[in-house]
Amino acid sequence: AKDHGRGCFHFFTKALQEASEFRAHLASDLRHALELRQLEVYYQPIIELNSGEIHKAEALLRWKHPAHGCISPSDFIPIAEDSGMIHEIGDWVFMQAVQQVRQWQTVWGETFQISVNMSPAQFIGEKNNHRHWLDKMQELHLLQNSIVIEITERLLVSEDAKIMDKLLNFRDVGIEIAIDDFGTGYSSLAYLKKFDIDYLKIDQSFTKNLAPDSSDLVLCEAIVVMAHKLGLKVIAEGVETQEQHNLLHSIRCDYGQGYLYFKPVPAGEFESLFIKRTCK
Ligand code: C2E
Ligand code: CA
Ligand code: CA
Ligand code: CA
Repeated sequence: AKDHGRGCFHFFTKALQEASEFRAHLASDLRHALELRQLEVYYQPIIELNSGEIHKAEALLRWKHPAHGCISPSDFIPIAEDSGMIHEIGDWVFMQAVQQVRQWQTVWGETFQISVNMSPAQFIGEKNNHRHWLDKMQELHLLQNSIVIEITERLLVSEDAKIMDKLLNFRDVGIEIAIDDFGTGYSSLAYLKKFDIDYLKIDQSFTKNLAPDSSDLVLCEAIVVMAHKLGLKVIAEGVETQEQHNLLHSIRCDYGQGYLYFKPVPAGEFESLFIKRTCK
C-alpha cells in the first residue's frame, strides 16, 4: 500500500512539478519578451450594431514565443501578475494603445476609441501611480474619450478605497470605463451605483448559447434594459453567428465584438480591413 501510495504521490507531484517548472520557465522568458520584441498588440474591431460602423477596437496582447509559438494571454497574463511583470507589460500596452489611437483618429475621425484591459494587480499596491500614463496622454494632446479601460467586477467589489480614487483620476482625464466579463463575477450590482461606469461587456458565456426563447436571451435583454436605464452602453463579446447578431440587435444591444465580424489582428492588418470596409 505504501508503494502504491508513493507511486501515485510521485506521479502526482511529478505532473505538478513539471507544470510549475514550465511556468517558471515561461516567467523567466517573459522577462525578456519585451526587449526581444516578442510581444505585440493586436486589435479587434467593435461594431456598432445599428449602423455597422466601427469606431472602437479592443487591444489584445499576443506573445510570440520562439519555441512554443503564440502563447495565449489567458496563460501568460496570470504569470505576469504573479511575478509583478504586469506593471511593465501593462505600461507598454497602454503606451502602444495611446499612440495607435492618436494615429487612427487622424485617419478615421476623432471619435475613434481603443480599449485596454487592466488587471486588478495594476490598481493595487503603491507601485501603481499612473501619472506617466496621464502625462503621455497630455503630450499627445489626446482628446476626451479616446481610451477605455476594461476592468472586471472583482476589482469593484474590493473594499480598497484607493480604487475609487484611481478610477476617478482616470475619469478626470477623459478615460472611459468598461466592465469586462459582465455577469460572471459577483451577484451584487451595488457597485454600479457607486462607480461611474460607461460600458458593460456581456461575457461570451451568455452570447454563445443565444437562441430565441433561451434563458440567455432573457438575461442579455435584462442587462441591456438595466444598462440603458443607468445610462450605460452594452457591448456583446464573442459574437460568432448571424443569429446571435440578429438577436442582440433585436434586444437593442449597442455593440458587438466577435469572430462573425473580425478576429483580433495586428495594427497593419486592422488598417487594411478598415479601408476595405469603408470603400465597400
Ligand atoms: P477578454 O478581455 O475577455 O478578451 C476577449 C477574448 O475573447 C480575447 O481572447 C479575444 O481574442 C476572444 N474573442 C474575440 N472574439 C471571439 C469570438 O467570437 N469567439 C471566441 N471564442 N473568442 C473571441 P484573448 O485575446 O486570447 O485574450 C484573453 C484574455 O486575456 C482577455 O479576455 C483578457 O482578460 C486578457 N488580456 C488580453 N490582453 C491583455 C492585456 O493587454 N492586459 C491584460 N491585463 N489582460 C489582457
Ligand atoms: Ca476585455
Ligand atoms: Ca471579456
Ligand atoms: Ca473573458
